[in-house]
Amino acid sequence: MYLNGQYVPYEEAKIPVEDRAFLFADGIYEVVRVYGGRPFDLEPHLRRLARSARELRLPEPDLEGLTRVTHELIRRNGVDEGTVYYQISRGVHAPRAHAFPGQPVEPTVLVLTHPLTPEAVAAGERRRQEGVTAITVPEQRWARCDIKSVSLLPNVLAKQQAAEQGAYEALFVRDGFVIEGSSSNVFAVIDGAIVTYPACNYILNGIARQRVIRDARSLGYTVLEQGIPLAALDRCQELFVTSTTSEVTPVVAVDGRPIGDGKVGPVVRALQQAYRAAARG
Ligand code: PMP
Repeated sequence: MYLNGQYVPYEEAKIPVEDRAFLFADGIYEVVRVYGGRPFDLEPHLRRLARSARELRLPEPDLEGLTRVTHELIRRNGVDEGTVYYQISRGVHAPRAHAFPGQPVEPTVLVLTHPLTPEAVAAGERRRQEGVTAITVPEQRWARCDIKSVSLLPNVLAKQQAAEQGAYEALFVRDGFVIEGSSSNVFAVIDGAIVTYPACNYILNGIARQRVIRDARSLGYTVLEQGIPLAALDRCQELFVTSTTSEVTPVVAVDGRPIGDGKVGPVVRALQQAYRAAARG
């Protein structure tokens, strides 16, 4: 892996216990998918990392350097199918104190790769083929979900609740609208139009979300960036979630009730095909 300017064996990487990511979740992250040894949509992911850094008043990350590190790590680790994980924290500040260190400290910058096993790739394919189920949960996060912060406890608890109920994803409901998943953006097909919550401070503007909106518009669909009313789930034709790792995954039931006819629909199929063509060439 890569840690603070050096390539180090995973087992030997050390981060001080008083790193602010560990104590305060004072850090940001990104996840990039690697297809056939190539990082997909690397540039928008790194641009979002830089934006998150600015919002947390972290030093501006060196995006050219991180681009080089990405390619080098993929090469060194022989990643064919997998992900690259980036994390930047405000570094070590001892003794523990909430406010930023008085003297600037070096941020902790780490990049690591995770290979995906053929079984994991196949499981993703199966979910995209057959669809998944979801539950709804009340929004309990902060009002800056546009920042990709490592502070993910409500997301973790929501996903765990979904898992315990045999569902794949938990969808956050804010003021009666389904806004996003615990680790995905959500789209509905309502009266033929594709509806997804607008990019604002309440959701993460997913890189997959942005790509899918572009694809949908170029395929001739109407995309409305507005709230999906919870009550509309009973009358929408299709529902799907998007993310870097799940791509375009259909949701065929929510809270035990089928979406549309309970089968994967044509809009999802068209968007999956467009995504796949871009990702796999
Ligand atoms: N929303 C949340 C809360 C997420 O954690 C993620 C995935 N990191 C997404 C949306 C999707 O973002 P992306 O398409 O960039 O993976």
